[in-house]
Amino acid sequence: DSKDKDKFEGTWRLFKLAVPLDQDPGKDFLVISDGLLQEIAKVLKFPVASLLPREAFTIVRKSFDARKKLKEPKFVHTVDMDVKKLLSLEPRTWDFISRLELKVGLVEHLHDRRDFGDLTSIIRDCKETKESVVKVENGRSIFSGELHKIQAARKPKIAVVGSGPSGLFASLVLAEFGADVTLIERGQAVETRGRDIGALVVRRILELESNFCFGEGGAGTWSDGKLVTRIGRNSGSVLAVMKSLVQFGAPKQILIDGKPHLGTDRLVPLLRNFRRHLQDLGVTIKFGTRVDDLLIKDGHVLGVTVSESSDKLRSSSQNMEYDAVILAVGHSARDIYQMLLSHDLVLVPKDFAVGLRIEHPQELINSLQYSELASEVCRGRGKVPVADYKVTNYIDKEEFYGSSSSGLANRSCYSFCMCPGGQVVLTSTNPSEMCINGMSFSRRASRWANAALVVTVSKKDFEAFNYHGPLAGVEFQREFERRAAMMGGGNFTVPVQTATDFLENKLSVTSVPPSSYRLGVKAANLHQLFPIHIIEALQHSLVTFDKELPGFICNDALLHGVETRTSSPVQIPRDVDSYESTSLKGLYPVGEGAGYAGGIISAAVDGMHAGFAVAKRFNLFNGDL
Ligand code: FAD
Repeated sequence: DSKDKDKFEGTWRLFKLAVPLDQDPGKDFLVISDGLLQEIAKVLKFPVASLLPREAFTIVRKSFDARKKLKEPKFVHTVDMDVKKLLSLEPRTWDFISRLELKVGLVEHLHDRRDFGDLTSIIRDCKETKESVVKVENGRSIFSGELHKIQAARKPKIAVVGSGPSGLFASLVLAEFGADVTLIERGQAVETRGRDIGALVVRRILELESNFCFGEGGAGTWSDGKLVTRIGRNSGSVLAVMKSLVQFGAPKQILIDGKPHLGTDRLVPLLRNFRRHLQDLGVTIKFGTRVDDLLIKDGHVLGVTVSESSDKLRSSSQNMEYDAVILAVGHSARDIYQMLLSHDLVLVPKDFAVGLRIEHPQELINSLQYSELASEVCRGRGKVPVADYKVTNYIDKEEFYGSSSSGLANRSCYSFCMCPGGQVVLTSTNPSEMCINGMSFSRRASRWANAALVVTVSKKDFEAFNYHGPLAGVEFQREFERRAAMMGGGNFTVPVQTATDFLENKLSVTSVPPSSYRLGVKAANLHQLFPIHIIEALQHSLVTFDKELPGFICNDALLHGVETRTSSPVQIPRDVDSYESTSLKGLYPVGEGAGYAGGIISAAVDGMHAGFAVAKRFNLFNGDL
């Protein structure tokens, strides 16, 4: 009947196809192995797996699962089945497919789902076919709808400030739509930035404008390059960003890996390709150029004032006029927040999280997560991925923790930005402030595993320190960054304490284990860093995490201070549809610094959507957004 006939069409998605580790093809990540074919045959109830044509199946997700309750570790797959292709090659399967029931969570009939390309091809298609633009439905972005490309009277001149993921993707969309884009970046191109970071790590020279936070690619370049996101892995927007990254040189594996990751060594060449593509599209890129001010008249942005951030001798400033300014400066550009306030822009303090970065030997984390399988990790060369972890603790019973902890209740403590096989790095943008984060290379082959352990903080916490107003959260961050710098004793030395000492509030100076942090560590009592309720939240959570991962608390676990820049402490309000600032026309605040993203992918998606919004505003297209 027609319902059955419908099954001849389109794609079926098969979930939870688990293949034991020893049957996985290893490096050939995208190959439909015999083991996987067997699992597919089981779901289809088809008797002879080897008769199934591999061409009809595509792996869309693959994750390693070594939870202790499983009998054996497995790779769990999600696979798309092209019914038409399957039946043309193996007609006998029809009988089985026609009887196949949709088992919730195991099989889904994908009606009319398109295969999205990278962003460049999507926009090119838009222009050629006059259809297919981004449309957001129930929080999911899909590419559909009508495009009516309008010949704008003249190319709008757009300044994009900041070349992090949000600025790059906003520039890409606008340039593809034909805008005259200038990308302004205070830091240096990756080649020079690499040398500046080298000078920091080896000779302790912190270039204020070219470091782990500032420069081409933004904060995410010398990072772990995790591409996981909480904004919907399968949304059209995330897929478009991921496919664009593949277009610029990321391995295809990121499209299906359950925990995609690039690493700094892959990010650097990717960014070079991204840059060349933007330049080919006509984007003017100005590195070493810092935006110091906005040109404003009658509540409208008319342009920006810039100075050469790389030129230490000459600091002459220059005014540049634009039709719109996309502000994608990240959340370490504290000078920009100050500048916006000086123009009476509305900024709103935002909750975020602060804490410490914990580091363990990677071997220990491998064995906590994998037991005897840990020996197969082979420093990122084997089939078994270098182990990571994610831990969370919600603290809700105030009375349980006694009177000293009056601020403890209703907080979460969680691991954040976990870097397996990575290293702890300095993310300060000022020598009198100390903050850290983690990075890794693609193989994640270092001896160390680090992650932030952070506790949520809000306006109440800022006020307890007498910090008020829109930048109270920034001052709160600074407070701990300054304290950490003092406790380290200067020269970018990081104060550290073993997890066991931290729990007992004592300092065993003689027994500090080694750290991956290259600029030196100094034993300190980190209790002196934070107010008591943050310390107690960390202590309580460490004990909880140790129950989940017995051995997590040990003498080798070293806490580093301080982790403050988890997400933006400020939000710059903007209109939901147009992305324009609610207090200044022509200004488009985007990405993490504006409070709309937390991570590489969500920042890129935000920049992409802002690009579409601005393109629409200037009549470069007239579609649904
Ligand atoms: P940013 O990436 O911060 O980019 C802002 C850019 O604007 C910078 O290049 C800056 O130089 C420039 N800028 C600032 N002010 C001005 C000005 N006045 N004039 C001109 N240019 C200016 N996220 C993940 O998802 N996965 C990870 O593994 C990961 N690891 C990280 C590791 C480290 C060490 C760090 C620091 C961050 C990490 N993050 C990670 C977070 C991630 O990098 C950010 O969420 C993301 O980069 C935010 O993107 P953005 O475009 O909003 O801002």
